[in-house]
Amino acid sequence: MGKNDIFNCNNTSNDLKICGSGLPIYLFVAGLHGDEWRQTSELLLNINPPENGTLAVIPIVNDGEYISTLDDQYYTTLGSKIIDAVESLHPDVYVELHSYSAYNFAKLTDGERINKTGVPAYIELRDGVLLGSVAPYIRLNHFSMDALCISFEIQKDSERSIHFAEELLDVVKNCIKRDDFVEYLEKMFPSQAKRAIENYKKFYGL
Ligand SMILES: [Zn+2]
Repeated sequence: MGKNDIFNCNNTSNDLKICGSGLPIYLFVAGLHGDEWRQTSELLLNINPPENGTLAVIPIVNDGEYISTLDDQYYTTLGSKIIDAVESLHPDVYVELHSYSAYNFAKLTDGERINKTGVPAYIELRDGVLLGSVAPYIRLNHFSMDALCISFEIQKDSERSIHFAEELLDVVKNCIKRDDFVEYLEKMFPSQAKRAIENYKKFYGL
């Protein structure tokens, strides 16, 4: 911690909180819709600053209604706080924390998801934590292609899932560039990394 770290991320507010300073800029958001905040917000309320750069968090974006983030309406209504933060901070790394019920696991990881919903299937890393892309609407309209934008789905009521998600946030928070996270995945989860990269390239036509 340097002397410029005048903020810390420990807070009990649901609004945007910023800690650390300089680049890169990380934006982590949780509680995007419905009651997902119950499973995810805690992870951001007590998060420590990154070793380098600035971390901005929104622990609860919305704690009531449910609109899917795949619905373009989401980011202009329930999720407008996210767009405001992205436009003012221009994050290099953006992470959404979602949560899912175990009975939806098959649906989220279904290889046919791309044909059913227009977005690639989530990929399980470990302990019920799923890795996926963020919705095309925010990815394509609000970030450069160099940014790292990821979505983690955490299994509801699973302590193991929460713990592993916490570990992942620590990893992501210390990735200086997109390739650092890719390297981590390739080292720790080689087969999932291969699928994630294939999905990403296919999806964004790279
Ligand atoms: Zn969600």
